[in-house]
Amino acid sequence: MEIIDGKKISNIIKEEIKIEVDQIVKNGERAPHLAAVLVGNDGASLTYVGSKVRSCEQVGFQSTLVKLPYDTSENNLLKKIDELNNDKEIDGFIVQLPLPKHINEEKVLLAVNPNKDVDGFHPTNFGKMALNMETFLPATPYGIIELLKRYKINTSGKNTVVIGRSNIVGRPISILMSRKGNPGDSTVTLVHSRTINLESFTKNADIIISALGVPDFINSSMVKKDVIIIDVGITRVKDDSHPKGYIIKGDVDFNSVKEKASYITPVPGGVGPMTIAMLLKNTLLSKSLKK
Ligand code: NAD
Repeated sequence: MEIIDGKKISNIIKEEIKIEVDQIVKNGERAPHLAAVLVGNDGASLTYVGSKVRSCEQVGFQSTLVKLPYDTSENNLLKKIDELNNDKEIDGFIVQLPLPKHINEEKVLLAVNPNKDVDGFHPTNFGKMALNMETFLPATPYGIIELLKRYKINTSGKNTVVIGRSNIVGRPISILMSRKGNPGDSTVTLVHSRTINLESFTKNADIIISALGVPDFINSSMVKKDVIIIDVGITRVKDDSHPKGYIIKGDVDFNSVKEKASYITPVPGGVGPMTIAMLLKNTLLSKSLKK
């Protein structure tokens, strides 16, 4: 069994980005600039946004964090988005999800200028992705594709089972894995909470991409020998013996499946770090498309 080391690969990608940024700056241009909008004080969101800002510093990007209070009105947030859309000094921005209940997420997503939508969530970019046109791929699926590519995993003709149909992971990765090319060319099955006898699909899978958010959902009895497992799940599980009071768990019972799998992503240190690296890559692309 080989561990797919997302931390290592994400660091390599960040180094590659830094070299490009140094060149941009040497040419007398400004460095790429990523902004993040955070509404409220959700613990996990604060952590994610914090590491996005730190990663910007690592690669030489400029970054701006726009913090708005939890009770910010939808209109106020839309105004801020409009400002970011029109700010020529900003190449891309993200609105950290989830948003408070009184804000309509769909309205916010539609308000982001697709040319600055480095999360790849806008319908224009999602449509371009589905049509195989150049665009910002959603960062987590993009990270999975990059891991498969860098580990030279052959996905052509393979049975790929994606668990979960969210707009940000499950559905887009199912589209990317069925596209022409490698990674891609897979025969994809998308299973979800309404799937009957989910095990009958996972047992036949050459590749399993799990994005449901249920700790230890997949165990050894559900997979076949030499399966390749990409575990996207990140769930905080209460653990008083840990200084933080919780531990992070993936969807896969790692110890149970490790002897059967040929490749596996650990949690943490697998898909998670790749998401940020690919967000930076999208921001770099956004800057280069503006030329
Ligand atoms: P979500 O929470 O929006 O949806 C979960 C999906 O799983 C749904 O489509 C649902 O149908 C399916 N599902 C739920 N229970 C199921 C069951 N018992 N059997 C089969 N299917 C079931 O999904 P999301 O936003 O894609 O998040 C999924 C997980 O991935 C979460 O743990 C999240 O924290 C994690 N995540 C990680 C990253 C990363 O960077 N690594 C990025 C995004 C999400």
